[in-house]
Amino acid sequence: MKLLLWAGIIFAVIWIFRSKKSSAKMDIPKTPQAPQAQHEGAEAMLSCAHCKTYFPASEAVFNSSNSAFCSVEHRAQHIVH
Ligand SMILES: [Zn+2]
Repeated sequence: MKLLLWAGIIFAVIWIFRSKKSSAKMDIPKTPQAPQAQHEGAEAMLSCAHCKTYFPASEAVFNSSNSAFCSVEHRAQHIVH
């Protein structure tokens, strides 16, 4: 009967060890995914060469000399002057 008890303990230890190992393995694919970049307000700001107003770089209008403008109108006006 003692042998059966020991066999049960050993089996329990192996089972706990195995379950710990498998849970550790399952944690590997769960690498924290970087949150999708939503940097509102973190966008680079450019100054209009005509009116000096700051605006997001994505809305910039560039002329042939690579100057940034807030709008097509200001780019056209800047060429005139
Ligand atoms: Zn402007």
